[in-house]
Amino acid sequence: MAIARGYAATDASKPLAPFTFERREPRDDDVVIDIKYCGVCHSDIHQARDEWGNSTFPMVPGHEIVGIVRAVGSQVTRFKIGDRVGVGCFVDSCTTCAKRDLDLEQYLPGLVVTYNGAEADGTPTQGGYSDHIVVKEGYVLSIPENLPLDAAAPLLCAGITLYSPLRHWKAGPGKKVAIVGLGGLGHMGVKLAHAMGAEVTVLSQTLSKKEDGLKLGADHYYATKDPETFTKLAGSFDLIICTVAAEIDWNAYLNLLKVDGDLVLVGIPENPVPVHAFSLVPARRSISGSMIGSIKETQEMLDFCGEHGIVSEIETIRMEQINEAYERVVRSDVRYRFVIDMESIKA
Ligand code: NAP
Ligand code: ZN
Repeated sequence: MAIARGYAATDASKPLAPFTFERREPRDDDVVIDIKYCGVCHSDIHQARDEWGNSTFPMVPGHEIVGIVRAVGSQVTRFKIGDRVGVGCFVDSCTTCAKRDLDLEQYLPGLVVTYNGAEADGTPTQGGYSDHIVVKEGYVLSIPENLPLDAAAPLLCAGITLYSPLRHWKAGPGKKVAIVGLGGLGHMGVKLAHAMGAEVTVLSQTLSKKEDGLKLGADHYYATKDPETFTKLAGSFDLIICTVAAEIDWNAYLNLLKVDGDLVLVGIPENPVPVHAFSLVPARRSISGSMIGSIKETQEMLDFCGEHGIVSEIETIRMEQINEAYERVVRSDVRYRFVIDMESIKA
């Protein structure tokens, strides 16, 4: 066992605080990663505050992990000491399920999430707000050489969470795509959809980030607080990806879709989503959900980002600033992802 230093939530109502815990000794198929940076996802906040009702404490959040390989087990073939690597939202998955070859392991039972989960032997998993992590080789990603490590960290969750539905619903030339919410996930959606060749519209609460949105690659930008947006854009989009976790008027957004258009939820609101049949039936519209992506698709996304020079817009923080950063994310006061510099925990 090696001692790890991190920051943990000890219960849903307390701020995160320094926390020391044990990481397993590397097995033959494990990679030991010296964590350099970890992104701050809104899901970290939902779970640290038990907003999904499934939290176990103490919890070291963090699933946008990048770092350098410190050691490898004897059977590891794809990584060596010194490699630039990443770890996303899960660190193991079903090994017996017949469907595991579909490269959709994020949807299979037996998924072991990076934190707030448990290994097969019951050991709680702890995430990337820490100095190192030990992960099975099959769940470790390669970070393209041309991408800076700090700004690449958010690709491991925010990046893949938008890349996967954009690919699945075939965003590309001739397709009109709207991204709802210009936060951590949303700003990656704009960059990725633009790089795929789609015509991209941001639907944000106000126009306060319009200049940024257009610079990130959006072709159009509208305020959802303005009711005219919903009359002007009625029937416009092939695909709308909603990154918002709040209660919004789902029927109003469905009415922005063309015939056969899809509204895909990636944000996870607390309450059920009320949808009127008339928002779907007269235009054969669909409403769907999407969760992160497989390991294969995550590597494909990282390589795509390498080819297109895509990284996240980040604000780097020290570990001890995490509680303040959480407050700012909740207030939508982030441009556009906080990334923790892990040197600050080692000092
Ligand atoms: P974020 O950075 O806080 O972005 C959310 C955006 O939603 C905000 O920037 C804001 O955009 C908009 N928003 C906030 N409050 C709103 C309100 N009351 N009404 C309308 N819009 C509002 O969060 P994130 O890290 O991108 O995560 C977003 C959601 O996705 C979270 O629920 C997270 O748990 C979930 N998530 C899902 C997956 C998955 O696999 N499906 C993966 C990661 C995260 P504007 O200021 O532009 O309006
Ligand atoms: Zn996340």
